[in-house]
Amino acid sequence: MSFFTELHNTATLQALLKAAVDGIVTIDLEGRITSLNQAAESIFGVEEEAMLGKKINQLMPENYASHHDGYLKHYRHTQEKKIIGIGRQVEGLHSSGRCFPMELSVGEIEEEGLSVGYIGIIRDISARVKAEEDAKQNREQLAHMTRLNTMGEMAAGIAHEVNQPLTAIASYAQACRHLLADVDISEKVLKILEKIDQQALRASAVIQRLRGFVKKHSDSFGSVELGKILDDTLALARTDTRLLDLPVRIECPHDLPQVLADPIQVQQVLLNLVRNGVDAMMGESETSSAEPAIDITLTLRDKETVEIVVRDYGPGLSEEAEQKLFHPFFTSKTTGMGIGLCVSRSIISAHGGELWHVLPAEGAGAEFHFTLAVDQL
Ligand code: ADP
Repeated sequence: MSFFTELHNTATLQALLKAAVDGIVTIDLEGRITSLNQAAESIFGVEEEAMLGKKINQLMPENYASHHDGYLKHYRHTQEKKIIGIGRQVEGLHSSGRCFPMELSVGEIEEEGLSVGYIGIIRDISARVKAEEDAKQNREQLAHMTRLNTMGEMAAGIAHEVNQPLTAIASYAQACRHLLADVDISEKVLKILEKIDQQALRASAVIQRLRGFVKKHSDSFGSVELGKILDDTLALARTDTRLLDLPVRIECPHDLPQVLADPIQVQQVLLNLVRNGVDAMMGESETSSAEPAIDITLTLRDKETVEIVVRDYGPGLSEEAEQKLFHPFFTSKTTGMGIGLCVSRSIISAHGGELWHVLPAEGAGAEFHFTLAVDQL
């Protein structure tokens, strides 16, 4: 090769290394770096000058680094190719200590038929891996939402199915009572039948409320009495046995005006706040409240706005909950879905109101406020 051809080749090679978007690193047979192009400098956050002569495993995380010398030796003795000419996804180590995913393909450098080193071509694929992870997370969240939706649809179906036999039980019990009333039969049996009847009707009423609650299209917007919504909500909430003996104190002025709202949706917000309070006081947390109670206060804030406050006496919000309270899918509960508060806030803002949390003025616990517009007519 003439001097000029060699010079030309060297210049071409230099330009090629400089222009390459991929990192290119060459090493000798012992794994010492012999060159490192600009792209590799920025991928690893190093400078070529400082790296020349250093072992390539300095650019690998510990679990790869400790095996690399062994891999090189193994290949020299056996010629068994594990990565050469194949390429694979491995991890690189940035000088800042951050590990990142990269694609690596390796070739062998030969001079006059003898192996003198290796060349590695490196592509940082952090962005691609992150995009894949994001897409996976989105898919999972979507699947989660779909499951919730299915659950809602099934709840309506189950409520419908169970409601029919319950109504039938109540009717049979009533019929028996009438039949038995004619003959001289023990008072006791009549009493028991009456109880069966009452219980079946009670169960049926719960299910009716549940059906209303989970039906897909809620009732339309209109003038509603908050006291009535509150009663319905608490009746529904008491299906949660933990609430059975819990005092729920309600303060509501008798002349509170009606508000403009979708009753089912407001019920959903109230139910969520009450259940969160119950969870906080008697749920999974070890610091459950000594004197659990829920206070619900309704006040006329001004001529146009009613303010509703739901307060519990649990441990209050954790630092993380305070920051992420309204983020979708934030939950601190093992069986929580983390969408209650974010859906509640969007319901209230669709009503033209606001939903927020404040630290109670006195004592521990959490206090949620929301507003609804007074019906002016
Ligand atoms: P979920 O109840 O499914 O967790 P939410 O959106 O209703 O979803 O609540 C999100 C999180 O906010 C809860 O997991 C909890 O950490 C916190 N949180 C909500 N209400 C209270 C409360 N009254 N006291 C303490 N923490 C609460």
